[in-house]
Amino acid sequence: DTSVLWFRRDLRCGDQPAMAAAGERAGRVLALFVLDDRLLGPAGAPRRTFLFRCLRALAEQLDGRLLIVHGDPVEAVAAAAEAVSARTVHVTTDTGPYGRRRDDAVQRRLAGQGVELIGTGTAYAVSPGRVRKPDGTPYRVFTPFRRAWGEHGWRQPSASDPSTIDWIDPGTLRGGPTAVPVPADDDLGEVRLPAAGERAGLDRWASFRDERLADYAEGRDRPSADGTSRLSTYLHWGCVHPRTLLADLAGDRGEGATAFRRELAWRDFLADVLWHQPESARQNLDRRFDRISYDTGPDADERFERWRTGRTGFPFVDAGMRQLAREGWMHNRVRMVAASFLVKDLHLPWWWGARHFMTALVDGDLASNQHNWQWVAGSGTDSAPYFRVFNPVTQGRRFDPDGDYVRRHVPELRGIAGKAVHEPWKAGEDAPADYPERMVDHGEERQEALRRFGEISGR
Ligand code: FAD
Repeated sequence: DTSVLWFRRDLRCGDQPAMAAAGERAGRVLALFVLDDRLLGPAGAPRRTFLFRCLRALAEQLDGRLLIVHGDPVEAVAAAAEAVSARTVHVTTDTGPYGRRRDDAVQRRLAGQGVELIGTGTAYAVSPGRVRKPDGTPYRVFTPFRRAWGEHGWRQPSASDPSTIDWIDPGTLRGGPTAVPVPADDDLGEVRLPAAGERAGLDRWASFRDERLADYAEGRDRPSADGTSRLSTYLHWGCVHPRTLLADLAGDRGEGATAFRRELAWRDFLADVLWHQPESARQNLDRRFDRISYDTGPDADERFERWRTGRTGFPFVDAGMRQLAREGWMHNRVRMVAASFLVKDLHLPWWWGARHFMTALVDGDLASNQHNWQWVAGSGTDSAPYFRVFNPVTQGRRFDPDGDYVRRHVPELRGIAGKAVHEPWKAGEDAPADYPERMVDHGEERQEALRRFGEISGR
């Protein structure tokens, strides 16, 4: 029997249930990846290039026996299956809105050829849709979800082993879809990406676990310290599966491990929300927010541009936006503050910011990004209450108390010592001439945000 293993966001060989399933069922397996313009188009250079590098790493792990094709997945997968006379195509189930539609279409097409599409596992510790309230409805609030998620538990890592599989060399195929090389890296400008692939992800995890996990509960909120795992990108592409990490933490009741498990539960929760309400990627979960007024007039574009390029005059926000431009990544605390600034100080639509993040972030992920934006905007499930408006100065003073994060990313402010860097307008003669003035008065805009919320909430 022959089978196709169609890789998508599961670019690894270890703990790979779909690979294990393909190996168990079939004598020979063709490994396939389809470059799909529908996904590559909006991805942005950092995320695309990271993918390309992951593909090169995966091809190397498989000794080059990875067929890469470019085109419509329905056609490409059907042609690959036909070329090797496969009876089955194995995948990790994709639970996002586009992936579900695509896989339905692929499944119908394959069924016409007598080929079965078999999904094993998902990108999450607990598959979206599994954790439900006792009455069968989905959770809308995180804390009870997390409790039920922990009680539900997850499987042990899969013992997938590529060396036990007889991989088909794509070079020997007659007919079938046209193989293409992995595309060249995009021009990344000043962005420097972390090393890609499974090995790099596992190394990253091991050094985080050994060196930083113990302090994670506190360290995670300090953007100047490298206190978080930076695994989001590897998790997004499936270079590492959360189950692998959770198995490694089994029995660890320490504060760091508990806090880390909670963040992985957030990731699963937001994917669960998207699975139940696929429209939430584009639409307010709380439909009252459809009526909130955002500024979209001519000067809105200019204000958006100042935010995007890190020239708002609020150092903590600007440092975050410049970190994003330089690293394709931003610390979580600063993501919250920068997002809040866009929505509640500039009154611009959350989806403008979400779209920019999806393009600029190397870890851009539909479920995590759109729902965190909605969390900040107040329109999400279990959101921060709308009236809780982040103050960019207080947040900076609290979470970057020495000012090191700001000085690292905003060179104009390097002359101001300590936490005074968060308020350069108070620096008198030391205030740098080349750093922009504050573009708004935070106190006034906070009132304005509350006024607009009052209009839709009837308060
Ligand atoms: P760690 O602190 O080491 O956390 C470990 C893992 O837990 C992360 O890798 C991630 O998978 C998960 N996690 C942590 N925090 C969250 C969270 N708030 N929501 C969901 N999962 C979480 N995360 C993305 O992966 N992709 C996005 O596109 C994305 N967009 C965001 C947009 C906004 C406005 C905000 C406020 C947050 C966003 N996040 C997103 C969540 C979070 O900021 C990142 O997951 C985190 O900063 C990644 O860094 P890390 O891996 O070092 O995190």
